[in-house]
Amino acid sequence: MPNTKLIYMEQMHLLECKATVEEIKDLGEDKFSAILDQTVFYPQGGGQPFDNGIIKNENAIFNVNEVRFMDGQVHHIGKYEKGAFKVGDTVSNFVEKERRQLNTRLHSAGHLVDMGLKELGKLWKPAKGYHFPNGPYVEYLAEENVFDENLKTELEKKCNEIINRNIETNIKFMDKSEMKKFCHFVPDFLPEGKPARVVFYGDFAIPCGGTHCKNLNEILKMSIRKIKKEKDMIKISYEL
Ligand SMILES: [Zn+2]
Repeated sequence: MPNTKLIYMEQMHLLECKATVEEIKDLGEDKFSAILDQTVFYPQGGGQPFDNGIIKNENAIFNVNEVRFMDGQVHHIGKYEKGAFKVGDTVSNFVEKERRQLNTRLHSAGHLVDMGLKELGKLWKPAKGYHFPNGPYVEYLAEENVFDENLKTELEKKCNEIINRNIETNIKFMDKSEMKKFCHFVPDFLPEGKPARVVFYGDFAIPCGGTHCKNLNEILKMSIRKIKKEKDMIKISYEL
């Protein structure tokens, strides 16, 4: 089976599309997994939670409450509200807007912390992003000792100042060697089976396959909750 075309990679803000059913798997307990030729659903990854939504056609309605990326394919997992799909059916995808918008703002805010740190001269190596609504944070590898309240205040001020600059975001597909020309940090491992993509916040470039605000002003306002040093890691918790 060919890889699922990841429409969200090119059109991050599209929440609806048509698709063809490629495979339906019965997972037991009335749960099914649907693989389509293409999708607007975001599968969990890169620190961003999966989308919810519905897939339907004239005969069936399928509620999607989990979306996973495995071996090049997106598995839409959920239960039928009505009817059932057959392989080859044409269906429509509808992603739940509120959940996606919140996840998008939280993801962009996580990289806004990267950008804020860079502008403050802290070129720490990003290690992990957790952009979930229940306590989002970003982690960096750093030698530096962080124990001053000043950084928390300065970073928060810097992030909100950047939000107020109304910076448009852009995306560009490129291979890893080209990424090094734009990004101050490129991870050793890029996810397999997904196109390699760079997201630009103005001139600031981040290798990232998540969904992002069209303009950073959509983040509205952010606060830095806590900066904590744990061994060689610096953990920065934030909220919107
Ligand atoms: Zn990201």
